[in-house]
Amino acid sequence: MPEIINLSSEIKKQLPAELVSFMQMAGKVAQSRGENLYLVGGVVRDLLLGQTNLDIDLVVEGDAIELAHQLVQINQAKITTHPHFNTAKLQWNKWSVDLATARSETYAKPGALPSVKPGSIDSDLFRRDLTVNALAIYLTPSHYGELIDLYGGRDDLEHKLIRILHEKSFTDDATRIWRGLRYEQRLNFQLEPTTLELLKRDIPMLDTISGDRIRHELELILREKCPEKVLRRAQELGVLAKLHPALKGNGWLAEKFGQGRQLSSPDQPPVGLYLALLTYPLTSDENEHLISRLRLPKLTAQVIRDTASIKAKLPSLANPELTPSRIYRLLHSHSPLAITANSLASDSPIARQHIQLFLDKLRYIKPALTGNDLKRMGIAAGPRIKEILQLLLEARLDGKVTNKKDEEGLV
Ligand code: ATP
Ligand code: MG
Repeated sequence: MPEIINLSSEIKKQLPAELVSFMQMAGKVAQSRGENLYLVGGVVRDLLLGQTNLDIDLVVEGDAIELAHQLVQINQAKITTHPHFNTAKLQWNKWSVDLATARSETYAKPGALPSVKPGSIDSDLFRRDLTVNALAIYLTPSHYGELIDLYGGRDDLEHKLIRILHEKSFTDDATRIWRGLRYEQRLNFQLEPTTLELLKRDIPMLDTISGDRIRHELELILREKCPEKVLRRAQELGVLAKLHPALKGNGWLAEKFGQGRQLSSPDQPPVGLYLALLTYPLTSDENEHLISRLRLPKLTAQVIRDTASIKAKLPSLANPELTPSRIYRLLHSHSPLAITANSLASDSPIARQHIQLFLDKLRYIKPALTGNDLKRMGIAAGPRIKEILQLLLEARLDGKVTNKKDEEGLV
């Protein structure tokens, strides 16, 4: 008989009381329906690691949506259901809980979305990516707090190992390659040797994954605390090259990501900036290739293209004689993110200085006179007005005029 491990005191210690009493109540309601309820996935992993995780995922051997409807009658949460997946989300105060029906998955072919049917908790754990994520805790009162660990996840947590559940795991779903690297680097773990071998063997399977799913994995990586660690590891194993052969997860990238992070608040990872820096070494053609492989949304693609256009202007921006109005003209039509990426990535100190001047000061400068002022001064409506405003702006930027009076004189 395997030893029974009960985590109820860890739950009580590490999770907010309000969530704990919700889970206990939900366990009772499920039991009264003759169903078993479990806490699953990342939150169980992090409970065992002693780390905070308020991302609560529950799995019921039964009907998640029916159970969710019964629960909201008790705690008045807002409910969102996805009948197609038989899942529900409950939200109240600052809490959010996901509820899913235990399911088994089979993969008709590599990389395809699985066919899904209701199943037991055992089959639900078997479909998961990594042993450390394939853990569950009973919430049903008769077994409350008991750990279900069918694949040695707790041992792997102890030995800091990332391990898949079976030999075909990466073939079934190659996004698990990226997920494995992400958790390895986040947790400071190691890929277990057989998993590492299978990962290398299955790298070509990344081609079977749709752009949307690969993009999603990349976004998750860029939201990590240190995405550069994952990208470096991905480069070392040849996984990054599958995204695009010209991408680099090197020391340069790590340095620039670090600098980019300093510019943003800790709870808002600068995902757009990271992406601009990651694609910085790419040519326009390579950018287009990546944009279509990942099916990047328009705005994101625009930041990448913009970053490359500014990069092409760096030789001009590195001219020490450049006047402020000329710097303005070179930069003002580009997105601030792309400009910031270049201020970090350019290796010309003068270009960086000019870009910084634009970001800190020039972009906020406006003439004191408006179009209406000009009309009042007797200038006929039409393209002239725009031209004069442009001239006034440039004079302002270059310090030739400093106040309204100067501007009127110039007009
Ligand atoms: P975190 O949110 O801290 O990154 P998590 O474990 O909650 O960790 P999610 O991405 O929210 O990760 O996924 C929830 C659970 O779903 C995971 O724990 C894992 O068991 C399972 N899962 C997610 N993606 C896959 C996948 N591609 N293949 C198998 N199981 C997966
Ligand atoms: Mg999660």
